[in-house]
Amino acid sequence: MTLITPTLLSDGRELIYFDADEASAARHRDPEAVRDARGLPPRGPAGTARYDALSGEWIAVAAHRQSRTHLPPADQCPLCPTTPANLSEVPASDYEVVVFENRFSSFGPDLGELPSAPEWGTTTTAFGRCEVVAFDSAHEGSFGSLPPERARTVIDAWAHRTEALSAMPGIKQVFCFENRGADIGVTLLHPHGQIYAYPFIPPRAATLAARAHEFFEASGGTRTLMGHALAAERSAGDRMVIEGEHFSAFVPFAARWPLEVHLVPHRQVPDIAALTGEERDELTTVYLDLLGRFDALYPTPTPYIAAWQQAPLDDVLRPASYLHLQVTSPRRAADKLKFLAGSEAAMGAFINDTTPEKVAEALRAAGTARTAGTSGAATTPDAPSATTRKDQA
Ligand SMILES: [Zn+2]
Repeated sequence: MTLITPTLLSDGRELIYFDADEASAARHRDPEAVRDARGLPPRGPAGTARYDALSGEWIAVAAHRQSRTHLPPADQCPLCPTTPANLSEVPASDYEVVVFENRFSSFGPDLGELPSAPEWGTTTTAFGRCEVVAFDSAHEGSFGSLPPERARTVIDAWAHRTEALSAMPGIKQVFCFENRGADIGVTLLHPHGQIYAYPFIPPRAATLAARAHEFFEASGGTRTLMGHALAAERSAGDRMVIEGEHFSAFVPFAARWPLEVHLVPHRQVPDIAALTGEERDELTTVYLDLLGRFDALYPTPTPYIAAWQQAPLDDVLRPASYLHLQVTSPRRAADKLKFLAGSEAAMGAFINDTTPEKVAEALRAAGTARTAGTSGAATTPDAPSATTRKDQA
């Protein structure tokens, strides 16, 4: 069971300790032990959001983020526990998992509804909330190297924050995610993730929700699109990576990235908060296994984005939506990253240099290799075959 202790930082931001251990939670309940001694100035005003009438998308304008902390040395890490020499963002001598409002927030702290009929030139407050999730007090490591009990507490923290943020005024989408690796823009090495609570449904989530809704309606509300895809993948088998009792992981039929895996619960639920204790237990095991396989593919840790697709907070779209995790990596060889160039960045049309079946095979082999105690598996998903080369030409 996870014990939850909320407190406030000196500038009024909320910080919440998540502890599996009662002694640790008790320390966090002592106001003196968690007092933020920094005396921070009040938070600045929220940023703005501009409406792009050409695409119908909202763009957050967060110029204040330019001054945010960028790859600080370990002794000045803002996510490490506070010491006399480093008054960090976490004013405690130790912690298990902690969540706090981002000091350099793209959305929020103001909450509210966006204009309902925006047009060219519409600017509004960037309502919403951005939070940081520190996965562990240790500076080194990553989600994949967490002990299972700590990873399980992170899952409870995601569930708690999803529920709390979903209930806040004007929030339309809660997005828990992790960027891992400086190669893809991580500015803090300490193992952590983030949660964005948006005042709109972001474009990719909107596309997925619209397709899910269409399929659901066409079936008379009896079948979900992800349920259909999951059954098809389990039946085909050649793209499966892990099959558990409550979760399966597979490379999707039309993967867009050189490395892409969808981790899907067998039961349709809208969000992480709706997972049972038993499902969260298995998610812990399966997710750690999956990340271990990602890192076993190459001699160095694989950069990735782990993105939780949760149901939008929309009465029409929500019933058809199906929680799942999309883990993607731009790594296409040991020393090569795929860059989003013309077709992908400008047109949103992805070209994959390898086949999903080949990637799935490599990830299955990576599990075997890890069990055998080796790393840097011989079977890597790079070096596309002649067939895929031809497809690309
Ligand atoms: Zn740190």
